[in-house]
Amino acid sequence: MKIRVAEHSGYCYGVKRAVTLLENLIEEKNRVYTLGPIIHNQQVTDYYHEKGVLIIDKIADLSDNEIDGALVVIRSHGAPKSVYEEAESKGVMLKDATCPYVKKIQNTVSTYASKGYNIIIVGDSKHPEVIGINGWCDNQAKIIKTIDDVELIALDQRPTCVVAQTTFNINLWKAISEQLESKLDDCVLINTICLATEQRQQAVIALASEVDLMIVVGGKHSSNTIKLAELCALQTRTIHIETKDDLNGEALKGTRSIGITAGASTPDWIIQSVILKIENEGEVFF
Ligand code: SF4
Repeated sequence: MKIRVAEHSGYCYGVKRAVTLLENLIEEKNRVYTLGPIIHNQQVTDYYHEKGVLIIDKIADLSDNEIDGALVVIRSHGAPKSVYEEAESKGVMLKDATCPYVKKIQNTVSTYASKGYNIIIVGDSKHPEVIGINGWCDNQAKIIKTIDDVELIALDQRPTCVVAQTTFNINLWKAISEQLESKLDDCVLINTICLATEQRQQAVIALASEVDLMIVVGGKHSSNTIKLAELCALQTRTIHIETKDDLNGEALKGTRSIGITAGASTPDWIIQSVILKIENEGEVFF
């Protein structure tokens, strides 16, 4: 049985940067809060919880006593402009780990909105990154994620700027943007899907077509991990697991070749423990 790990799997640049910033703050013995879990990975958030990092949903969750001396980390997904304003008005010290690629989208929608453009975000309206981006254009963006949604949103003929959630499916982005272009006279389409996502998706598409089974490792709520699993499932049998403990021998029976990939928020130690389990217990499974 062969195990092949997809290129570009595991932590991306933005996640690595956010985690490193958090590590440094802990080391300097600061009292640290994160605005939402630092990344969408339960094992990693449990680890930081043990190190004393607390998660808050909003700045208002901090009492006056807690504000003094506290540092609040904005994770790689970013946050709406209102969060920065609220923090400043309350004297809360922010440490901004917004991924520079996300920051660039926030600046783009802010600039276009101030010029009077409609903003369309192609992505998941409930995802924190999208909520954050929308918060930089006065929450006025239309948010869509399917071709059918193009028909449903009212398209006025004001100039429109279209951006994508950084982890959006590339092929779907192409299809939706073509549809929008055909309906709008003045439309600026900016493909903001990040290179890490594109590379990751291309690598799994290539690998999934060559193996019997793809194992996608990552948080059950991690949007980029879910998308990787969806792409793999189009090509071959696929299972999505969070840790080695989710590996089920039955699902692996009779498999001759396995491809492994991991979402951008999956640490290397979790990927390695999955590989080790397959290598050590492979005989039982196969
Ligand atoms: S997926 Fe891309 S945009 Fe998102 S955090 Fe990683 S590097 Fe940044």
